[in-house]
Amino acid sequence: MDSITALLSGAIEEVRPLSGGAPASYIPELADVDPEHLALAAVGPRGRVWSAGDDDVEFTIQSMSKPFVLALALVEHGLDAVMAKVGAEPSGEPFNAISLEAGTGRPANPMINAGAIATTSLIGGDTIEARTARIIDLLSGFAGRELRVDEAVYASESATGDRNRALAHLLKSYDVIDASVDLAVESYFRQCSLLVTVRDLAAMAATLAFGGFNPTTKVQVVEERVARDVLSIMASCGMYDFSGEWLLRVGLPAKSGVSGGLLAVAPSQFGVAAFSPRLDRHGNSVRAVAVVEGLSDQLGMHLLEPHESIAVPVVAVHPGETGPVVRLSGELGYAGAERVFAVLRELATGLPAGSTVTLDAREVARAHPGAMAALQTEFDGLPLGFVIEQ
Ligand code: GLU
Repeated sequence: MDSITALLSGAIEEVRPLSGGAPASYIPELADVDPEHLALAAVGPRGRVWSAGDDDVEFTIQSMSKPFVLALALVEHGLDAVMAKVGAEPSGEPFNAISLEAGTGRPANPMINAGAIATTSLIGGDTIEARTARIIDLLSGFAGRELRVDEAVYASESATGDRNRALAHLLKSYDVIDASVDLAVESYFRQCSLLVTVRDLAAMAATLAFGGFNPTTKVQVVEERVARDVLSIMASCGMYDFSGEWLLRVGLPAKSGVSGGLLAVAPSQFGVAAFSPRLDRHGNSVRAVAVVEGLSDQLGMHLLEPHESIAVPVVAVHPGETGPVVRLSGELGYAGAERVFAVLRELATGLPAGSTVTLDAREVARAHPGAMAALQTEFDGLPLGFVIEQ
């Protein structure tokens, strides 16, 4: 067994004894599941999918569809038009709460049902089939394989979906949704009924982690800005009324669903997904929460702890024909520019005035404009000639 698979296998064995919680039962089909299922998967920058446990068991995506349908709404309409219909504030309330802004009826965020129904209602198409086809198309791009609807779960969702229908009627009364209630709600039920495995979810999470680029298929599925917007909302609203504590303890944008799945994103590093059907009182999978929390601790993934390598370039100095060449690679952020200044100042003390330094930035994968401007100002203040190669 390779070391990553061993790590994942070890992580699930740690949480296997947890027996608390119960599978969702408010949709009859969801209760019909083996509560012992347990699986974990991760996808890194090179696109290999690592997994352990019941990694080929399919379950419905449920609320974990919400970030990806939000991505589609952002692609189709842009951030401002989407925000006109749905907010970005954690509601602190359960997923099916009637959490609408006083006066406007705008749902608090796209991760609770009211907001998700509003988001789904924005997707183009005259029929439920046409809307669902667009949704399936994009979500399949994130997953890297063609996803399909579990018709039995869909029928069960639709047959018992009166609360969601009521939410949609309320939204319609406030003109938050323009589509018919039927179009909005049935498309929403179908999106929730898409079948996935943890491996699919890990690929979907990884696509968000790498700025909309699916590392398993090498396809840019959505623009980087769309992925960033979706992750921002997942970070504050993705774990129902446990979102604040999740950010505190685990520190990763994430989304859970009532089928017992959970996906979490370590930006620029990997996507991870876990599955175990027993849910806690917030509607999050007991063992999936525990396993991702453990991984975050073990691997130092919390976004808000210091990460040395953030936007710090590798700096190497070589002799060149006309003077020293300072070669940069990696990412150059504003804080990273400070390290480059230190190297330049030291070089300047050892060189006769008027010497020329070449700054070779061709290997810099990403240079933030503020950092480049700061470098230019620094050059202007040194008694040396500078050539920048970009
Ligand atoms: N189909 C579910 C509902 O709207 C999704 C709930 C969830 O996963 O939070 O009731």
